[in-house]
Amino acid sequence: MSLLDIKSFAADEWIAPDSSARMIASAVTGEPMARAGSALPVQDMLDYARGVGGPALRAMTFHDRARMLKALALELGKHKQALYDLSFSTGATQSDHLIDIDGGIGTMFVFASKGRREMPDGHVYLDGEVEQLSRNGTFLGQHIATPLQGVAVHINAFNFPVWGMLEKLAPTLLAGVPAIVKPATATCYVTELAVRIMVESGILPAGALQLVSGGVGDMLDRLGCQDVVSFTGSAQTALALRSNPVILRNSVRFVAEQDSLNASILGPDAVAGTPEFDLFVKEVTREMTTKAGQKCTAIRRIIAPQAAVPALLEALSARLGSTTIGNPQDEGVRMGALVSAAQKADVLEKAALIGTEAERVFGDPDDFAMAGSKGAFLPPMLFHCADPDGAERVHDTEAFGPVSTVMGYRDLGHAVELANRGQGSLVASVITHDPAVAREVALGSGAFHGRLYFNNRDSMTESTGHGSPLPHMVHGGPGRAGGGEEMGGIRGVLHYMQRTAIQGSPDIQSAIGGTWVPGAAEIEGPAHPFTRRFGDLAIGETIHTDPREVTLEDIEHFAHFTGDTFYAHMDEEAAKRNPFFPGRVAHGYLLLSFAAGLFVEPNEGPVLANTGLDGLRFMKPVQAGDAIKVRLTVKKKTRRNDEYGEVRWHATLTNQDDEMVAEYELLTMVAF
Ligand code: NAP
Repeated sequence: MSLLDIKSFAADEWIAPDSSARMIASAVTGEPMARAGSALPVQDMLDYARGVGGPALRAMTFHDRARMLKALALELGKHKQALYDLSFSTGATQSDHLIDIDGGIGTMFVFASKGRREMPDGHVYLDGEVEQLSRNGTFLGQHIATPLQGVAVHINAFNFPVWGMLEKLAPTLLAGVPAIVKPATATCYVTELAVRIMVESGILPAGALQLVSGGVGDMLDRLGCQDVVSFTGSAQTALALRSNPVILRNSVRFVAEQDSLNASILGPDAVAGTPEFDLFVKEVTREMTTKAGQKCTAIRRIIAPQAAVPALLEALSARLGSTTIGNPQDEGVRMGALVSAAQKADVLEKAALIGTEAERVFGDPDDFAMAGSKGAFLPPMLFHCADPDGAERVHDTEAFGPVSTVMGYRDLGHAVELANRGQGSLVASVITHDPAVAREVALGSGAFHGRLYFNNRDSMTESTGHGSPLPHMVHGGPGRAGGGEEMGGIRGVLHYMQRTAIQGSPDIQSAIGGTWVPGAAEIEGPAHPFTRRFGDLAIGETIHTDPREVTLEDIEHFAHFTGDTFYAHMDEEAAKRNPFFPGRVAHGYLLLSFAAGLFVEPNEGPVLANTGLDGLRFMKPVQAGDAIKVRLTVKKKTRRNDEYGEVRWHATLTNQDDEMVAEYELLTMVAF
């Protein structure tokens, strides 16, 4: 078979491997199948990203970029089969592809949808509420986030050539930052195909995405304060890269997702015979065998009540024994090969280290179905460590393959102590039906883990699995896991943006944030705002209504009409005994209804629907004889589709003495 030439994509050019290229072998056959690597115009790539890709992305709004992500995900989805076909050579099975390829595409869809729903159709992201920095509100504070003006260099591990790229790329592009992606060489041929699909779709602006197949040369020595390195790989490589003097001197943001000794705890309640015990056996087996254990989140340490250990070893061995290992393309194969002979050798070396402190109870690398194959096959290997307190290596040796160690605990405090001996991990799981157990572990162990996963009979049919990082949830962990954080919804986008505290007057804040803040100038529109179309309404456009007096008859009518005859509205003496009311008061909902009656324009027009109300506060009671009036201001506009957008109005109700009675935000859909 002729070798595949895996290219880089640099400043809009595909660059073929040169004489410096590295050979890549198929994980399944051990035969050479591709080569990658060449001398690249590193400075040109950085300049192109910063000078061409960045400005093009920043000219787009968050919603434009979210739509772009959706289009890219759809495009990748159309070519899934080609990605699957190629990916078998990495040793992955079809169910592994679902995690890597479908999981990666799914992650992009989630960021696309979150970008549309949770970010503005503008260029500035507001982080948190306006802070009142002065007594009269003429000087306010607000935190904003704007895209970094450099480039994100993504260095990825070999195990997820598609998901590993897309889980970083989606938040980066949504933030408005161009990326240079460098996959691990061992599986870069799959990443290259995914990049080619995206580039050839024409969806991305020039310079938004470049690819390094092979080494990055001296790229990291050329990074500056606006650049980010987002690294996934071993702790050793992370340490070497983050210690680069240029990265340190320029405070280049460095996000690290490293290896980790993830633990799974069997709750004290989950004895043999409970649904939780069976679930635990299933989850552990799945984590050991998916991707042949080459998963950063895989369960490396199995922590079980001392008394449950014999039954657990037996159940796990039985289940692991029924795992079919072989060519991932063959039907019925549950576990494929490791990525390379080198990786297999590394896992055997690490397993031998673990073997100095623990006994191997299942899986003999010299005696299993694929023992004679040239491919990088290994059986799942289960160890039992009888003295986890005295052991060191079982808590700090990551064998990045199908290797895991069972250890017993005396009580839950001991289980937590053992879990924390991993010195920081991506995820720990607890299989328990007892919420008190879950709470004790969360308090004792939360600080050591980026994610805690609880599962039991109630959630097991819908749970997503110990090992699956989700785009909505934070992925990353303290200490050994790298101290980094990715995804977690919009949190992950902010890793590629700068948070800036803005201090200034309400007008300044409104102009910068694209959102009207109380105290900023009010604009008088040419007509009632409900007669104006989405595109015509200006931020700050305001109407002030006439006052309306609230009478006792109104209150009584409303009470009987709605059935809300709460004493504070009906009984003068009882209301007076309540510390909040001077006597009988109007219903808050009556005031809101009157407010609507004051500000609506009744005829058919561009306002299509009232879709909600946020942040409602009643500040001062209204009694019969008081008169209320409304100020309604366009606070923010968010385009939803080509037909309509959401207008968020800031509303205040005041009484005859101009005292604030109520405040809220009203949401409407308004036609274009
Ligand atoms: P690795 O050997 O550390 O390599 C990771 C990446 O760094 C690869 O792209 C590699 O490229 C690159 N690299 C190595 N030296 C470099 C240098 N001097 N300059 C620039 N780039 C360099 O890790 P791996 O073997 O690919 O992955 C396995 C490890 O990743 C495991 O320890 C696993 O736990 C961890 N992992 C963590 C996560 C997570 O999310 N936390 C996810 C997956 C994997 P080359 O391939 O070209 O050398």
